[in-house]
Amino acid sequence: MNLQDQPGTSSSNLHKDTGLEVLEENAFSWLIAVLEATDDAVIGKNLDGVIVCWNGAAEALFGYTAEEIIGRPITTIIPPERIHEETLILSRIRQGEKLVHFVTERKCKNGKTIPVSLTVLPIRDHNKNIIGACKIARDLSEARQSEQELRRREALLRSVLETVPDGMIVIDERGIIRDFSVAAERLFGFQASEVIGQNVSVLMPSPYREEHDKYLSRYLATGERRIIGIGRVVVGQRKDGSTFPMELSVGETKLPEGHLFTGFVEDLTERQERERRFRELRSELAHLARVNELGQMVSALAHEVMQPLTALTNYLNAMRRLLEIGKLENLREAMERANNEVERASGIIRRLREFVRKGETERQKEYLPSTIAEASALALVGTGREIKFDICVAEDAAEALIDKIQIQQVLVNLMRNAVEAMANSARRELSVSAVRAGEMIEISVADTGPGLPEEVHARLFQPFVTTKPNGMGIGLYVCRTIVEAHGGELSADRVATGGTVFRFTVPSAGSATES
Ligand code: ADP
Repeated sequence: MNLQDQPGTSSSNLHKDTGLEVLEENAFSWLIAVLEATDDAVIGKNLDGVIVCWNGAAEALFGYTAEEIIGRPITTIIPPERIHEETLILSRIRQGEKLVHFVTERKCKNGKTIPVSLTVLPIRDHNKNIIGACKIARDLSEARQSEQELRRREALLRSVLETVPDGMIVIDERGIIRDFSVAAERLFGFQASEVIGQNVSVLMPSPYREEHDKYLSRYLATGERRIIGIGRVVVGQRKDGSTFPMELSVGETKLPEGHLFTGFVEDLTERQERERRFRELRSELAHLARVNELGQMVSALAHEVMQPLTALTNYLNAMRRLLEIGKLENLREAMERANNEVERASGIIRRLREFVRKGETERQKEYLPSTIAEASALALVGTGREIKFDICVAEDAAEALIDKIQIQQVLVNLMRNAVEAMANSARRELSVSAVRAGEMIEISVADTGPGLPEEVHARLFQPFVTTKPNGMGIGLYVCRTIVEAHGGELSADRVATGGTVFRFTVPSAGSATES
């Protein structure tokens, strides 16, 4: 603690160290002790703004020792952009006014600026003349930091609550809604502002609506848990009066002002819908996987077709012989048998076509970006070496009128071929794009492989044309059948820069309603 000589006081009454007038030696000792004990920085300055008093807490806060700072202007600890505050403070002090909890910033010896709360009081001599000011500075850094931390946590919690798909409702022990998340707004059709402050029973149909207050008081009285921490399927009621099954889990928080209950709500109809979509997707993928087994299937079928064809050849030879020797009476029977073999062969072919086509085409409006993305997920599994892949669908080519599964078969086939073609290429880039072409959408699958082999190009879409050791040469044939069944066309071209591009067209979903 250090106090500098105060001007204008008579030397006979001055304290020997401090120069302050001493009326009561003990009172002064008390004062010194308080100043040293307090955690707040206490600074005295005269009306010229010169520091005359500086306690231990001021030293700790600002980093200057009393010896260093006493006699220097108070502006030493004021950041340049806040210098004007000093003129304001001094003018108020001169008028005998005080300043209470003025929140501002001050500068430390190390140059750092810290947030402080200032209380400034005028100091008077024994004639009641104002001779300076006593300034108490409280460091707000910690408070500010914890405030910021609190705000950060609050923002984090808010963002989590706004993101979780479950609705969240907080109620107090009287059942009054205190918080209502964005997902809860969506589930119940109420705005948070409409229900906060209302009894949670507005979200329930009768008879729960009437009973809920009783449930709550019974729990508070007995502590008997029927739903808290357990979770149950209950019925919710939306703003429009419609009801829906929901899974409700409730947690409890005990605060000094009472209990709070947090309910998490999941709409079970949405869950069922998700599960149905999942099952559908799984069966679609299973079908696509089956198409990948097509090669093996065709091989087995080809073997089966060979049998009736061999039998047919035998019957035809037999018929020629019967004709040659004039045994016409046996000819009818041989012809019937030959006919049966033809039917057997076409039955096998029919089964193959059914397998490929999955019955009738069921065309509907489909969103192409996701149709392509799903197909590529399947086509690119286990491709081994890394492939740069991109999908680009023009805005006016996003909706097509297609049998999604079949078009995905085409896409998977073309992408698989492209991936296989690029197996030994240095550049491996696969791009799928879709653009509008009149009433159709043209989808292209381009690769950076070696391009189509000459001998294949001319007979490309014929069955059993292949250059692969284990290939069946049936893929492109099937693709063309599917595309043509959609009223589109499939073609292939070599790309000037190397590689191949397959293009096919499908009807745009707009074409049915436009024009
Ligand atoms: P498979 O893949 O069983 O051979 P496909 O009908 O799908 O049957 O393909 C026939 C042939 O066309 C392939 O064997 C290959 O020679 C050629 N081909 C198909 N796609 C490409 C491609 N992207 N790049 C180069 N050649 C291709």
